[in-house]
Amino acid sequence: MTRKPIMVGNWKMNVDHIEATGLVEKLHYTLVDKDWDPKKSECVLCVPFTDIRTVRTLIDGDRLQFGLGAQNVSEHDNGAFTGEISASMLSKLGVQYVIIGHSERRQFFGETDELVNAKAFKVLGAGMTPIVCVGEGLDIRKAGNHVEYTLDQVRRALQGLSSEQVAGLVIAYEPVWAIGTGEVATPADAQEVCGAIRKEVAALYDEATAESVRIQYGGSVKSGNVVQIMDQPDIDGCLVGGASLQPEEFAAIVCFY
Ligand code: PEP
Repeated sequence: MTRKPIMVGNWKMNVDHIEATGLVEKLHYTLVDKDWDPKKSECVLCVPFTDIRTVRTLIDGDRLQFGLGAQNVSEHDNGAFTGEISASMLSKLGVQYVIIGHSERRQFFGETDELVNAKAFKVLGAGMTPIVCVGEGLDIRKAGNHVEYTLDQVRRALQGLSSEQVAGLVIAYEPVWAIGTGEVATPADAQEVCGAIRKEVAALYDEATAESVRIQYGGSVKSGNVVQIMDQPDIDGCLVGGASLQPEEFAAIVCFY
């Protein structure tokens, strides 16, 4: 089974809808310069809610080969939830991917594994693909419990999902201590956990599901380390924060192959 590599840019709370136009166009032209072949890697932009319409219009108008993603979603369908955005609102705007359970949402907004699980159901129910983030903090890594901790997050996030649903998922392993810090897990560290996640999916579901699910590494990925990371057998892509705001860097990451 060949899994298509998927590079996802997480803009976080950066780039307003006017700046988005410049960033998307610059990325597009840089990728054209680099002869990017969209058959060899998928490129997804997870943008702030306020940029979704702008980026969708650019993608459609210029026939850009980018996927479009959001960074969060409500676990509710609709109603009196001031400030929230539902899965159907996103899918109606042409959003295809939604990051759920990012460590910043877990840390600053109290998101639990149960909430991540509820959001996964909503995203799938609206016909989009969840990018489920998991990963340990530094204390857990130092104690040597990172594999078991992360697998526990995976089990809770996937609870009740069917094998068909899991086969289409993206799971992003992001050790919290490596996000935005410049501290990168070694390719072997990343492979250890990504390989364990795939084995766990096989144990929970079956080999075919495990072979199909795409597993990303995230945490200070740059043009200088992407090749070694992507060389690992169980790593099918990267979730990229800071470097996704730099078109040259992100284009090099997308063209890692
Ligand atoms: C992220 O936001 O998921 C991330 C990995 O950020 P960075 O690449 O900046 O470490």
